[in-house]
Amino acid sequence: MFRISQYMRELAQAQSTGVYPVVKDRKARGPVVIWNLIRRCNLTCKHCYALSADHDYAGELLLPEVFTVMDDLKAFGVPALILSGGEPLLRPDIFEISARAREMGFYTGLSTNGTLIDALMAQRIAEAGFDYVGISLDGLKATHDKFRRLEGAFDRSLAAIGHLDKVGVKVGLRYTMTAMNGHDLPALLDLMQEVGAHKFYFSHLNYAGRGNIHRDKDAHHQATRAAMDMLFDRAWAAAQAGSMDDYVSGNNDADGPYLLQWVRQHLPQWEDALRARLVAWGGNASGQQIANIDNLGHVHPDTMWWHHDLGCVRDRPFSQIWNDVSDPLMAGLKQRPRPVQGRCGGCQHLAICNGNTRVRAQQLTGNFWFEDPGCYLSDAEVGAASTPFEPAPAKRRRIEVVTA
Ligand code: SF4
Repeated sequence: MFRISQYMRELAQAQSTGVYPVVKDRKARGPVVIWNLIRRCNLTCKHCYALSADHDYAGELLLPEVFTVMDDLKAFGVPALILSGGEPLLRPDIFEISARAREMGFYTGLSTNGTLIDALMAQRIAEAGFDYVGISLDGLKATHDKFRRLEGAFDRSLAAIGHLDKVGVKVGLRYTMTAMNGHDLPALLDLMQEVGAHKFYFSHLNYAGRGNIHRDKDAHHQATRAAMDMLFDRAWAAAQAGSMDDYVSGNNDADGPYLLQWVRQHLPQWEDALRARLVAWGGNASGQQIANIDNLGHVHPDTMWWHHDLGCVRDRPFSQIWNDVSDPLMAGLKQRPRPVQGRCGGCQHLAICNGNTRVRAQQLTGNFWFEDPGCYLSDAEVGAASTPFEPAPAKRRRIEVVTA
């Protein structure tokens, strides 16, 4: 996750004091775990990475198994659990799991579509002590209901935000931009302010590109740049106003170098200080500081790698699976610098970005160390030339979108 607002607040402080603040990011021993506890969902969204439907899935982890995994995660130094699905509120024991997570001292987040949260459910969520609830919105009403394939889904999710805000739960919006919903972004950012959400998570699309990308002219890349400019401007305005509203992004670590360019243009005196901060952040954290456990207990480098199984917590503890670098993907993900190729290998921003989202390269070319085809910076901006490539056979080019 790229914390745009955190850097903007630091820049605002630097502007007012004349000194860039000294900030030490504490890295936890273990990764943040996004845990898909259930695959069942009351919606069948067009873009679901879990391909969920409204029926039970056999073989999901039982409550005692979940508790055993939690003990191992705690001992391993995992700081945070993001409970997701499917729709996690459909899991009958979700509040037993969250209560234990809180007792054990995990930061506990809930990733939900929001349609099941009425006033009563909001109260239960508040009492359970969730630190944060993220609700997915794909756009305004017409767009969202179409994406979610449910008339009224938007109204229900919006009402959920209000219910949660009323009982004091920190709630934010999650949005994945595609060619079909990009036009709703400005209105959604306005809506965030109106409905009491205090965080906006902008997820980039893990999309399939073409065999030989001309980034300067690519419409998708241009739209991405415009969206990031908008987010940076909003986050900067909020930081200058002293607001604690958070703008964050995910699934494209080129956002780091792109912010550096924004600072070079708007606040050039802080470019070196920000570069040092971004290098300390370190870019893509899949397989390092981010982990995923699916509903059957299989471990993956992150939620986009469900087609790459590292092992099952029923067979080996998570801590053993995570430290096992006999898997070539995990071995490379944990290297610094990663063994990335093409223009990522020659990129002047590699220490900031860490080679970005490897799953896009793998899905498109079959080689998980190839340059990331989703990078929206030009060759001139990264100081390295793009590499032409033959797309992998079609069956390997299935790209899914991160959503809750
Ligand atoms: S070229 Fe690769 S390493 Fe450089 S910013 Fe783009 S994705 Fe990151």
